[in-house]
Amino acid sequence: MSDDPDQISAVVDHDLCAGVAQCVRAAPGAFVLDPEGMSVFAPHGSWSGEELEDAADSCPMAAIEVRGVSG
Ligand code: SF4
Repeated sequence: MSDDPDQISAVVDHDLCAGVAQCVRAAPGAFVLDPEGMSVFAPHGSWSGEELEDAADSCPMAAIEVRGVSG
């Protein structure tokens, strides 16, 4: 998997997100909750592709799509 932050990102489907914030716990440098309590991919600290994958895997709503993963 690529770990290059320039090549990997994530999107959160706000039709699915329930604000459980598991993703924020899994990748605190990559996700934040917006004022409505929805998760947003907003890199602001250190994070890795593995953390994004963990966040996607831990989301009970399967609302996170990780993009740019190769290999
Ligand atoms: S874990 Fe899933 S449902 Fe919870 S805030 Fe993150 S994206 Fe939304």
